[in-house]
Amino acid sequence: MRRKRSAADQQIADLLVTAKKSLDLSVAFLSRLDGTTQHLEVVKTAVPVLVQEGAKVRQDTSICQAILDGRLPAVIPDVTKYPEAMKLPSARIPRIRSYVSTPVHLSDGSLYGTFCAFGFRSDKELGKRDLALVKVLASAAAVIVEPEVRDQERRTEIEGRLDPVVADGGPVVLLQPIVDLATGGRVGAEALSRFPAEWGRTPDVVFAEAHSVGMGHALELQALERAAEHLDRVAGYVAMNVSPATVLTPACGELLGRLPLDRVVLELTEHDEVEDYDVLLATLAPFRAAGLRLAIDDVGAGFSSLRHIVVTSPDVIKLDRSIAAGVAGDHVLATLVGSLVTFAHGSGARVVAEGVETADDAAALRTLGVDLGQGWHFGRPGPPEALAVPVPRTPADDAAPEPVLSR
Ligand code: C2E
Ligand code: CA
Ligand code: CA
Repeated sequence: MRRKRSAADQQIADLLVTAKKSLDLSVAFLSRLDGTTQHLEVVKTAVPVLVQEGAKVRQDTSICQAILDGRLPAVIPDVTKYPEAMKLPSARIPRIRSYVSTPVHLSDGSLYGTFCAFGFRSDKELGKRDLALVKVLASAAAVIVEPEVRDQERRTEIEGRLDPVVADGGPVVLLQPIVDLATGGRVGAEALSRFPAEWGRTPDVVFAEAHSVGMGHALELQALERAAEHLDRVAGYVAMNVSPATVLTPACGELLGRLPLDRVVLELTEHDEVEDYDVLLATLAPFRAAGLRLAIDDVGAGFSSLRHIVVTSPDVIKLDRSIAAGVAGDHVLATLVGSLVTFAHGSGARVVAEGVETADDAAALRTLGVDLGQGWHFGRPGPPEALAVPVPRTPADDAAPEPVLSR
């Protein structure tokens, strides 16, 4: 697994200089073996013309491989004494005459490559003690490269999973009903992405992984695009999740510009810090002026949501499942929800409770003044067609419906 160039290379270079100086040889290098090719990843050399960083050699004809196979000893004071070595190309060009090589093993025992030093003259002094030093330096090199190797493996694994999804136009996007707690009527739906079940990851985890490999914006935009496609298929508003960072991309602005904004609610997830609220608000301002509504998601979940609310003056506040579920039997939660409702209504926002799983919670939330509810009690996330299924009514009346999300 290839490492990316980095600060670790400088540390490796220091080890190579130590090897080169202590053994009084011309060249020291760290190589990665991929099964067919030996990659000279970091090279310290007195003769750059002959050996260069980034050079590749055929693994099966390299001296290192012959040493790994036991066809040659780990320390070779005089290459000309070994017919096996003289057969190999590097005995001719660049005329290697002395050689020390030791394998670099990662913590799980797997072979990363080799740590080597060589000279262009034979060197009778070269012996066991030199090998001992090179082995210590090789273990240090292993500790230095390991985090990058693992990180590269992680990235490759994530990209391998995401590539087909992106190539397919993005994740499947389901809709979960959002219901007026007073009337029991469905007023909107939240778009929720779904990735292959065998991944065993919730969508927030997948989006975070995607961002960690630079695919986050693309994936979020595809999810938004898929969510937007549902606008033609269902009545009411569609709430779409988006991270503050993706909102700032020009592509997101272009997408929003194409939508019937009076039917769109953007749910800003608070998982990643907002770096600059002014920029965020300025970016959203023209869309909000054209009818887009803004929701702050996961309020009460323990992120800095209150500041988010104060600064963005959202149209909707979504109470996190952790404070909405179980509210019917919990005075502390009820008090918290009650104060958040007062706070929200005071600042002109409407309140949606998430994670409503029972009729009791739905009734309690309504009593506490929560406007809208979302959760398994009203319906699970499903395909747009499933939204047609009538929703159960809270023990409410037939009071005249209020305008849904207006302040
Ligand atoms: P969220 O926005 O807070 O979404 C609500 C989550 O609660 C969803 O999880 C939903 O399936 C789940 N849920 C709904 N009702 C109930 C209930 O009654 N009980 C319980 N226990 N859970 C309920 P999901 O779909 O796994 O999504 C997790 C998070 O992933 C979302 O949290 C959201 O932050 C993120 N996400 C999902 N889709 C997208 C997307 O398209 N773009 C972005 N940026 N984020 C997304
Ligand atoms: Ca959400
Ligand atoms: Ca939420």
